[in-house]
Amino acid sequence: MSEALLAYPWQSDYWQTLNALQDQDRLPHAILLSGPEGIGKYRFAKAFAAYLLCEQPQAAMACGKCQSCLWCKDRQHPDFKALEPPEGKRQIAVDQVRELQSFAVQRAHREDGKKIVLIHPAESMNTNAANALLKTLEEPAEQTLLLLVSHASSRLLPTIRSRCLQYAMKVPDPAVSEAWLQKTITDSADLHRLMQESSGRPLTALALFESGGLERFKEYDQALAAMLTGKTHAVAVAETFAEHEPTAVLSWWVRRLQLLITRLVGADAEIPVPWDRLKGLDPAAIFPRLDTAQQSLAQLQRGAALNKRLLFEGILLDWQQFCHNNA
Ligand SMILES: [Zn+2]
Repeated sequence: MSEALLAYPWQSDYWQTLNALQDQDRLPHAILLSGPEGIGKYRFAKAFAAYLLCEQPQAAMACGKCQSCLWCKDRQHPDFKALEPPEGKRQIAVDQVRELQSFAVQRAHREDGKKIVLIHPAESMNTNAANALLKTLEEPAEQTLLLLVSHASSRLLPTIRSRCLQYAMKVPDPAVSEAWLQKTITDSADLHRLMQESSGRPLTALALFESGGLERFKEYDQALAAMLTGKTHAVAVAETFAEHEPTAVLSWWVRRLQLLITRLVGADAEIPVPWDRLKGLDPAAIFPRLDTAQQSLAQLQRGAALNKRLLFEGILLDWQQFCHNNA
């Protein structure tokens, strides 16, 4: 598998900051790149690793041609180790972290070269793995850089966070994201809607496009509209939703609640379901529902086995009642 060795266009400020540290030989032993999913933190980390390992960097980037870059592209660099949940698993296990100890004592392939460990996503380390990593952080190996990528850094042990140099990466400027999407998606696509449905996160927007997500969202909106206008019942809608990938349905639901709150507090947001049934709702009463939906989504993403039909019935019956009481 060949991989891109360059960061995304919206990441140049972060790149320059880290590169300046590298130039001054002030890179710390561990760097934590945090921020929402879908903005390219992982690719940034891989690109920076490739740059540090490159034998002849050009314009402060990996050259893409040397032996080291070829190894990086093939994910075979002897001085690079990625810690990720194994295929089909949701967690990074303690054994994977323990393997770092032997990696850390190996000599780097290149004289005075660095060795790099990329942990992604760092919050997928279970408690034992996190504690084992803490030991590594307390006794950092010479010339080894740990790059932690996290979509939910608040779930990391505070003692891990405090031992890393932290970079909070933000959702990029919409104009930059949209220009990038335009170039990346060559088909005609509703970029504005893709961006809106993805909370401005360009890689999420791309994934949504590639999976036909906008069409799916439309289908869910229609089902919700039918429920809100009394044409169908929550239980029937829940049954339909249970046939779909639950994270897709919950992502949609989270996005709908976010849009609704935005609109109810007076900001601009397009609500794709009957607004007249929703405009009387109290945004303060929606926040706890949003929290619950986000927690369920996070549980599913961690591999928890939830009963889909019960989950959606719970959400939709509550919502039906909530709208009815506030109509
Ligand atoms: Zn190179």
